[in-house]
Amino acid sequence: MAKFVGAHTSASGGVKNAIANAIAIGANAFALFTKNQRQWVAKPLDGATIDAFKSALDASGILPKHVLPHDSYLINLGHPEADKLAQSREAFIDEMSRVSQLGLDRLNFHPGSHLGVVPIDTCLDTIAQSINIALDATQGVTAVIENTAGQGTNLGWRFEELAAIIDKVEDKSRVGVCIDTCHMYSAGYDIRTREAYEASFAQFDKIVGFNYLKGMHINDAKPALGSRVDRHHSLGQGTIGLDAFRFIMNDARMDDIPLILETIDESIWAQEIALLRSFVGVA
Ligand SMILES: [Zn+2]
Ligand SMILES: [Zn+2]
Repeated sequence: MAKFVGAHTSASGGVKNAIANAIAIGANAFALFTKNQRQWVAKPLDGATIDAFKSALDASGILPKHVLPHDSYLINLGHPEADKLAQSREAFIDEMSRVSQLGLDRLNFHPGSHLGVVPIDTCLDTIAQSINIALDATQGVTAVIENTAGQGTNLGWRFEELAAIIDKVEDKSRVGVCIDTCHMYSAGYDIRTREAYEASFAQFDKIVGFNYLKGMHINDAKPALGSRVDRHHSLGQGTIGLDAFRFIMNDARMDDIPLILETIDESIWAQEIALLRSFVGVA
């Protein structure tokens, strides 16, 4: 099977529970938070928790490369204030370390926000330096930058911004991107028709490069094309529609990476995963 599909499952009660929650919806990939995503500090992962996660993952048959952990929402690696930037960098290194301890190889994060205080280029430089610091302090984990919808002062919605960050990362072997379909659409990259899909991903390949694609978030959108609003919807119920997801499931460039639902109704995740699988081989 070339496509690895799942959802951002709950790790409530312990990180290993995210695996059981993934299995329960028929997933062969998943995303999780390795700590409470709304708090700065978490107690370190202990040996028993790490062992339980690793053996449950092994038993599940899901490969580490098909797990896409997500960092805390509080972290802003482009923060214009020195003390808050330092806090974010410290928290991000802790997140990278936790991912490494769990035997996983990638961490998905939102690039950062300039808060209207510094120019875009300055903020992009700060983000790249934050990534360099984190890569120096850790081993074996790739920093996976997620494209954003461009809401507020969040950067990383234009492919050029993702490329500008990657350009300043020293170890190119440990930086990647996660493309969220809702975010790209909200940012103005249309994927609704075959023609639009091919044009948008040709732009992505030219500006960023498919070699950096380490995961995707598979979401329909509530807002209109180019609205720069981050509101997900269930597949087929939003403004993108199902064809885009048919194209993805038949696109070899999205093989062997985690394809993760962050759609709004988790009670239908199992059906959405089955729906995506049913698209394979259907033009
Ligand atoms: Zn996302
Ligand atoms: Zn989003």
